Amino acid sequence: MRRPLLAALLLSSAGYSLGAQQRTVSPQIQSVLSVSAPVVALTHVRLVDGTGERARDDQTVIIEGELIRAVGKTGETSVPPGAQVLDLSGHTVFPGIIGLHDHMYYSSAAGGGMKLMLYSYPRLFLSAGVTTIRTAGSVDSYQELNLKKAIDDGLAIGPDIVVTGPYLQGPGQGPGAMHPVSGPEDARRMVRYWAEEGVTWFKAYTLISRADLGAAIDEAHKHGVKVTAHLCSVGFREAVALGIDNLEHGLLTNSEYHSGKQPDACPPSGSAATYDALDINSQDVQRTFQEMVKRNVSMTSTLAVYETGSPTRVPVDQRVLDALFPGARDAVAQYYERGRTANDTVARRNLRKAMDFERAFVKAGGLLAAGSDPCCASAIAGYADQRNYELLVEAGFTPEEAIRIMTLNGAKVLGRADRVGSIAPGKQADLVIVRGDPTRQSSDIRNVVTVFRKGLGYDAAKLTASIAGQVGIR
Ligand SMILES: [Zn+2]
Repeated sequence: MRRPLLAALLLSSAGYSLGAQQRTVSPQIQSVLSVSAPVVALTHVRLVDGTGERARDDQTVIIEGELIRAVGKTGETSVPPGAQVLDLSGHTVFPGIIGLHDHMYYSSAAGGGMKLMLYSYPRLFLSAGVTTIRTAGSVDSYQELNLKKAIDDGLAIGPDIVVTGPYLQGPGQGPGAMHPVSGPEDARRMVRYWAEEGVTWFKAYTLISRADLGAAIDEAHKHGVKVTAHLCSVGFREAVALGIDNLEHGLLTNSEYHSGKQPDACPPSGSAATYDALDINSQDVQRTFQEMVKRNVSMTSTLAVYETGSPTRVPVDQRVLDALFPGARDAVAQYYERGRTANDTVARRNLRKAMDFERAFVKAGGLLAAGSDPCCASAIAGYADQRNYELLVEAGFTPEEAIRIMTLNGAKVLGRADRVGSIAPGKQADLVIVRGDPTRQSSDIRNVVTVFRKGLGYDAAKLTASIAGQVGIR
């Protein structure tokens, strides 16, 4: 256990030269790699660098050890002697996806609630191009902390994990995996304990009160950790005033536009109609954006999981069915089969409204990132992150903006934009190579061939094959 940690320290302090030596890789990881040379040159590749700049054709990216060493036009960028050269004509490279709402659990009607997917999800995230996740509410923080350590030590396959504490839920009938906090001191006790155990984010949940949320945020900040939330009982502006760092899901969890809303309580039913009638350009909505921007509160887009409420929009992704265990596969297939004749008109209009809300938030200067919420139904790890990209483009973002939302913006929210989130010399070599060009055909985001994490190239097809029929079980 000690040696890989020591090796990692040496690598980071000695920079390129030592980082470029042949690395010792665990047999488990070796079995799913396709590229592991100390120096690699990606040539003739179309590049989307994650900053929002326009895609560039015929680029070369030099990877040395764990880092990106050079980026430039092919022919003008020197390839170090001995480098493994990959001719990537007809391919596109973009930064590893940073999924901010990327749980480590899945619930299915057939399999029961909130089960950890410690085997399938880390592989599935990586195979779909997701190289960093924040778990955004945990049902077992110790398992996540230990998995993170095994991945950091080079012993297990998976993305870089930002571990979240258990959900901070208010009193009432919440999911069984959550402790309902009984007051501000209880909220502080939970935050203190888990921050000391090593989690770096918390997520507050739907029934929390303003007093408990405020206490949790204050305690978290004292410990140098941050708080996001999936809200309902508290509105966005109230949470901003309490000092929250990030807000999940966007429009359809913001209860502050409901006329009948009581303090510290979710609004009465009929929320779908409220969003349907909402004017995104109204002063009420613009005030939310202004307060979020002023206090640097970012928002996490989760359009793919929203879309699962509109089964008439698109047929279910066959890759999702292939990944699920038979019971869950049948349940999801039946949901979409029944959905073909469902009346989901209002849900569809609300999805469009949520897209408009996100576009307007960015236009107002807001920092928007993304996450898959792979909790349930057809929203599963990795594939839902890819679907987010297609939906962000459909929302009206340029492809380059959509990539930035899913990469550099996520890195900014996590405070690690100096290390990951874009393709530039000196940054960690976390890169996704896809066949085709997602800037022209957004579904090309699904054609992942190789995913580099810290300079090691994972074979997407091998990873995908290894999880077939496993999601929902392990
Ligand atoms: Zn979630």
